[in-house]
Amino acid sequence: MELKRSQELFEEAKRYLPGGVDSPVRAFKAVGGTPPFITRGKGSRIFDADGNEYIDYVCSWGPLILGHSHPRVIDAIKQAAENGTTFGASTELEITLAKMVTTAMPSIEMLRFVSSGTEATMSALRLARAFTGRDKIIKFAGGYHGHSDGLLVKGGSGLATLGLPDSPGVPKSYTLNTLVAPYNDIEAVAQLLHKYSGEIAGVIVEPIAANMGVIPPQPGFLESLRQLTIDNDVLLIFDEVITGFRVAYGGAQSVFKITPDITCLGKIIGGGLPVGAYGGRRDIMEMIAPVGPVYQAGTLSGNPLAMTAGIETLKVLSQPGNYERLEKTSAKMEKGIAEAAVSLNCRLRISRFASLLTVFFTDNQLVDFESVSGADTAKFSWFFHRLLENGIYWPPSQYEAAFISMAHSDEDIQKTIEIIGMALEHLKD
Ligand SMILES: *Cc1c(COP(=O)(O)O)cnc(C)c1O
Repeated sequence: MELKRSQELFEEAKRYLPGGVDSPVRAFKAVGGTPPFITRGKGSRIFDADGNEYIDYVCSWGPLILGHSHPRVIDAIKQAAENGTTFGASTELEITLAKMVTTAMPSIEMLRFVSSGTEATMSALRLARAFTGRDKIIKFAGGYHGHSDGLLVKGGSGLATLGLPDSPGVPKSYTLNTLVAPYNDIEAVAQLLHKYSGEIAGVIVEPIAANMGVIPPQPGFLESLRQLTIDNDVLLIFDEVITGFRVAYGGAQSVFKITPDITCLGKIIGGGLPVGAYGGRRDIMEMIAPVGPVYQAGTLSGNPLAMTAGIETLKVLSQPGNYERLEKTSAKMEKGIAEAAVSLNCRLRISRFASLLTVFFTDNQLVDFESVSGADTAKFSWFFHRLLENGIYWPPSQYEAAFISMAHSDEDIQKTIEIIGMALEHLKD
């Protein structure tokens, strides 16, 4: 496989864009090598500037649950574009998508559309703080909620600690109100709620952690979290930017039958265009301007093209049988990799929830950020490059989820399993 043209473009891009990219993971720093520059996507496939074809398991990091350039979504976007791309004024499309979202997730009585997941979580925290009149929030180590200052905190692993910024440029004072607990550790949350009683506005959580690789919640974790937050009069904020409309049409909250106070959405609800949203109980949402005093605005919020792509995506998604088929495809992938690993005596763990899947090169029981941190990233890099050379575009980091879409066929999965088997053959212990 040749990446000559991509290599040239990457060098040129680096002169104009830091690292040649607009989002760090795209530069392949974790795995090394040249990132293919993409020219086109269709269904489960993407094509690069050298004419290479890949089966894509990144799928734009989640939005493309229908695969690339789904004909219905593309047609809808084309038609919408003919009518103008943005007005900075209201359109009926916002009502249509809002109705679809509130119907799918009854915990959301009202919502506000924004332009990214980062904006959704950032605004949800502002709202939670205003509603409760408190400043502190709890997040989980390894949980990613976009790059806003107060959320750029992993915290130390192990015992719950006060948050320290992960990035230069974030003043310590901005993260002093961010408390961090290990994921799946309800006792740590209880201790924080006790220690900072009366000071905590909300707990923000990815109900299924998918930004440290896939780590599902332990049985009872989310239920206990809901009970604890109710008991302490603290808002529960589900960050369903990845899981919303992915693990089920109603998101993780429908799978676990939990009603959060606020939900953050993004990715799938924009059908491949830039979107985010946050929503929840009416009494909370009515704190937002212009009804209430909490300011939050956006020039391109509720953008007609993004609304259209979201509406069409949800329409296709809501047809019966889709999620069942996606589950079958995803289970087949998990089973195939597991069988290859066993037959080759290869030590790894496959962590899957619905169509989110991570292959971890570790023996650890995976429950939180600390337990995933021990994974063998050198092995992963080797694995990643064998896949890429053989036409499989896997996420370029050990700590990311692979996304399986409804466009992935049984043949795609079969081919992927074969190539993964070949790669694992060289990673035998
Ligand atoms: C992707 C993601 C975000 C951030 O969304 P952007 O649109 O990239 O700003 C927030 N939370 C979770 C759980 C995500 O996966």
